[in-house]
Amino acid sequence: MAALELFNTLSGKVERLEPVGAPALRMYACGPTIYDYGHIGNFRTFLHVDVLRRFLRQQGVAVEHVMNVTDVDDKIIRNAKAAGKPIAEYTARFEKAFFEDMEALGIERPEHVPRATEHIAEMVTLIEQLAAKDIAYQTEDGSWYFRIARFAEYGKLSKKDLEGMEDGARVDADEYEKDAARDFALWKAAKEGEPSWQTVLGAGRPGWHIECSAMATAILGESFDLHAGGEDLMFPHHENEIAQSEAASGRTFARHWMHVRFLLVEGKKMSKSLGNFYTLRDLLLKGHRASAIRYLLLSVPYRHQMNFTFEALGAATNAIERLRTFHQRMLRGGFAAGVVDATVTAATAKSASEFTAALANDLNTAEAAAAISEMVRAANSAADAGTLGGENAAEVLRVLMLFDEVFAVLEDRDEELTRAALKWAEAEGRTKDAAPELVLKLALSDAEIEALVEERTEAKKARNFARADAIRAELLAKGVVIEDSKDGARWKRK
Ligand code: AMP
Ligand code: ZN
Repeated sequence: MAALELFNTLSGKVERLEPVGAPALRMYACGPTIYDYGHIGNFRTFLHVDVLRRFLRQQGVAVEHVMNVTDVDDKIIRNAKAAGKPIAEYTARFEKAFFEDMEALGIERPEHVPRATEHIAEMVTLIEQLAAKDIAYQTEDGSWYFRIARFAEYGKLSKKDLEGMEDGARVDADEYEKDAARDFALWKAAKEGEPSWQTVLGAGRPGWHIECSAMATAILGESFDLHAGGEDLMFPHHENEIAQSEAASGRTFARHWMHVRFLLVEGKKMSKSLGNFYTLRDLLLKGHRASAIRYLLLSVPYRHQMNFTFEALGAATNAIERLRTFHQRMLRGGFAAGVVDATVTAATAKSASEFTAALANDLNTAEAAAAISEMVRAANSAADAGTLGGENAAEVLRVLMLFDEVFAVLEDRDEELTRAALKWAEAEGRTKDAAPELVLKLALSDAEIEALVEERTEAKKARNFARADAIRAELLAKGVVIEDSKDGARWKRK
């Protein structure tokens, strides 16, 4: 078992990550705000957290992973209002899409996925605890704020210099300027047209930061092993989570903090507000594969920012194709028992140990992916030369499975996922966003074509030639040609 050494934003050092006080490693990752479809930058963060949990498990460490779903916040309220819908109805659609996208990208579902609106009581209790210590205070409009001057360690995560900070200056927005450390909102007094809850704090709704503190504590306890999120969350969100939680409990909130750096497009953060983003669905509709997107987003280690390019996506597609071809070759077998190729034996052992070492070293996914290529090369050339033995192949397959337990790209679900994206586009009236050749190729599954061909044969038997011709025309429009022969009708895609 290899111990995982992971950079800890809090200490500023690479440190061993292991469970403390419980058999499973308890971790919390900030989840999506479901006000729109997630973009692949968001998924870069979730993918690297997925690698973390998969690798820990491979090393024999069970994980208890919480990822919240933020289903009430400033952005949601704004967008739901614009759409003229109640927030629950508005968010349901994006929550469903988010979990579909997670699944398509091979991201495992965390053990717990609490929704903020289902934990209002815990948020209120936490604010009451802070109020009892006079750390939370209420303003005239009925909102509650966190008095950051009362938390001496404020800034310890983001290493902010709080010199010149104005005592008592407040901020209402959940997201605020980098240099504006201020008393932040814990509870926002009810406003006309906004959702609110009647509580002992008065009518209102939670601020975004308290949501995560309350859900993490409710499920994992006051003190747990790891907290993760994208780099933008370090300040103010995570800093505020620490302040609220530690001020209330007097204990260390999360011991280890992991921040995934941004996915960039031409040097700028991929984000909704800049409009330079791609959703997974956009890319699938253009004919890119879900597996290649996963592999691409993992190809740069989480501590480095990564630039998105279609060129690199193409290279990831090819790399997966080669790996799958290789995997099939090893599975096909037919290698001689008793024959052993020493070069392959050595390359396989080296690839296996380098793979594990790379991930154990601060989740270096780039080196981990590169580590298995030596084995692939050696096994391919031995297979070409006829010197690959059955035992070699079995060992190669075992190492390939180690790789795939983490990278999860060998199983080919790409066409199925693209088909699902097309179905979604059709339902949303967005088929025009899809590549026309893809629509032609995937509009009908083989089974659907078979059924139509069968129906046409029956129609002809019943001398319903109009129906038979209509089916032929419909298939042709979708790129399928029927050829009649004396053995019946055959079909092929154009
Ligand atoms: P949101 O749904 O906006 O709350 O974001 C969900 C997650 O995606 C958070 O952990 C963000 O830090 C992360 N995130 C947002 N933009 C990017 C990006 N361009 N690259 C990587 N992660 C991002
Ligand atoms: Zn959070």
